[in-house]
Amino acid sequence: MASISLKNIVKRYGTGKAAVPVIHGVNAEVKDGEFIVIVGPSGCGKSTLLRMVAGLEEITDGTISIGARVVNNLEPAQRDIAMVFQNYALYPHMSVFDNMAYGLKIAKAPKDEIKARVDKAAQILELGHLLERKPRQLSGGQRQRVAMGRAIVRQPQVFLFDEPLSNLDAKLRAQTRIEIQKLHRELGITSLFVTHDQVEAMTLAQRMIVMNAGNMEQFGTPEEVYHTP
Ligand code: ADP
Ligand code: ADP
Repeated sequence: MASISLKNIVKRYGTGKAAVPVIHGVNAEVKDGEFIVIVGPSGCGKSTLLRMVAGLEEITDGTISIGARVVNNLEPAQRDIAMVFQNYALYPHMSVFDNMAYGLKIAKAPKDEIKARVDKAAQILELGHLLERKPRQLSGGQRQRVAMGRAIVRQPQVFLFDEPLSNLDAKLRAQTRIEIQKLHRELGITSLFVTHDQVEAMTLAQRMIVMNAGNMEQFGTPEEVYHTP
């Protein structure tokens, strides 16, 4: 677990005259173990902000720290984060077990430790009976749980969720939301969760960052955000 600090974060796509400013100086301090939802309309810069924390997008100006470390110049793999995407990004030819184990195999973790961690994640996410299946033999909700399992087994300091529920139908969305809450209760990992859905934001957030047109307009608990005079 770790705190996350965003100091004067600015993002421009492109350079010189062609530069398009999309984030205009965001400041936020996220506490150790907090579940933060970043919410706002399409195009307001949520995903760009998340991708800068992940190291998938260069920071134009400002400082991002995870725990005590400034991560501006660190590669994604060095940041101790795990990201869950909208489209799951599972390997179609690999079993559920191998999909979850992949990152640990690359990191050359011992076999018995890989098995222990995958089994633990599968237990939390109720995937134990599906470990031999291929992604195409799973429902959408099950695929998203595998994607979360793959993130958990790496035991990251920070979870980053980029609209992970938006490809699911209403029922599965509600179920997976509960799954994510349970995960956070059990593991307490500091999380940033991006969505354009206000109901989702209110349900999941301990605090929420409300973005609009590249600015952070509010940062508070759902009560604070929706009951401002
Ligand atoms: P959100 O996640 O809130 O929908 P994004 O962070 O995806 O918003 O996008 C913020 C703004 O940045 C949008 O205007 C989008 O068109 C623009 N943008 C995103 N990616 C790029 C890119 N690679 N090059 C240029 N502009 C981009
Ligand atoms: P969705 O409509 O959410 O994509 P599916 O209709 O694909 O769900 O799957 C419904 C159920 O059937 C799921 O529990 C899934 O695990 C199971 N299932 C789907 N395809 C296969 C398969 N090829 N072999 C075994 N079980 C499957």
